[in-house]
Amino acid sequence: MSQSDPTTFRCWAEIDLAGLERNLKSIQSALPKRIRYIAVVKADAYGHGMQQTVARLMQAGVDMFAVANVNEATAIREIGTGWPIIVLGATLEQEESQLFEYELIPTISTVEELARLERRAHREKANLKAHMKIDTGMGRLGIWHEYADELFQAFRKASRVTLNGIYTHFASADKDPAFTRKQREIFIETIARADWLPVDDMLIHADNSAGITTFAPDSIYNAARIGLLQFGIRPYPESMLGRADTTPIFQFKSRVGIVKTLPEGASISYGRTCVLKRESRIAVVCAGYGDGIPLQLSNRGEVIINDQRCPILGRVTMDQTIVDVTEVAEPVESGDVVTIIGSQSGSEIRLEEFSIRADTIPWEVMCSITKRVPRIYRTAIQSG
Ligand SMILES: *Cc1c(COP(=O)(O)O)cnc(C)c1O
Repeated sequence: MSQSDPTTFRCWAEIDLAGLERNLKSIQSALPKRIRYIAVVKADAYGHGMQQTVARLMQAGVDMFAVANVNEATAIREIGTGWPIIVLGATLEQEESQLFEYELIPTISTVEELARLERRAHREKANLKAHMKIDTGMGRLGIWHEYADELFQAFRKASRVTLNGIYTHFASADKDPAFTRKQREIFIETIARADWLPVDDMLIHADNSAGITTFAPDSIYNAARIGLLQFGIRPYPESMLGRADTTPIFQFKSRVGIVKTLPEGASISYGRTCVLKRESRIAVVCAGYGDGIPLQLSNRGEVIINDQRCPILGRVTMDQTIVDVTEVAEPVESGDVVTIIGSQSGSEIRLEEFSIRADTIPWEVMCSITKRVPRIYRTAIQSG
């Protein structure tokens, strides 16, 4: 048995790289031709694995990458050269030299950051391209739009750091179309105020996954930053969708450890939050919050065994989760596959549903599936 043979694992994730490529193509074809595709692959490509995800996206034809920090960006450079890489987070002083060494594109939100980088560029005797971020209502990175002119002026004076792109980020593109429209307008107006800018030669971007599913990009934009949607996750109202047809590529699986019978009145797991109301068959599953099943799913979540949904009983523990298999038609046995996220013939638990039940969001779920869970990859050859 090989290292990537799922039959050897007690808890693992299956990732369909061919599906990733199909999703990418579908999103690309839904976007106007001029829109450059910036693949957002921060946090280990949303838990899918940086190495394999990025390699596949490079082959499949993305234009650029965006990550949270310099460390993630250098990892991409080691996978392949030639793709511009935007660092979306703030770059710390001790990280600056890597921007030059790896030709990364930093995000600049303050005049101080630009001054610091300009000084560093002079010391390194090197030039750097940077993107300026405008805060149009996210209240995180970026210069507040009303103060943007001072940063534009600072860029105008800088000699070694060039303004290569301008962007903003939406705070509520999936929930609040009116606020998002306002952010779009502010962004366009702010750029228009700097009428000396050669915007045609710059990358102008705002849309994330929710942004492209809710609005057709205004003509000023020539790029979009796509994270969640390329992984086939779409926690957006159906009314807002329809442009890109994407499907999930991630499955989270485990196995039954033991099956046993417990009498009516027996209590289950730490804290005894579940007391059986009838004699029950229970399965102890080989995965817990140490693998990424949130504690919040205690007494609330479901898994799929033998194509049937089975409720989680009692508290999720670090290494094990107890489920009720009394109603499962086929006898459940030790070693049977348990689908935590994904599908088994007729039954499916989507990540979107899983997140809602756990009182969280898909982004956090994907960042919470731990290192203990090996990621195995299906390629085009295996999945047709
Ligand atoms: C994470 C991130 C994105 C991608 O967001 P999705 O909703 O996953 O598409 C885009 N832009 C910025 C600045 C981000 O931090």
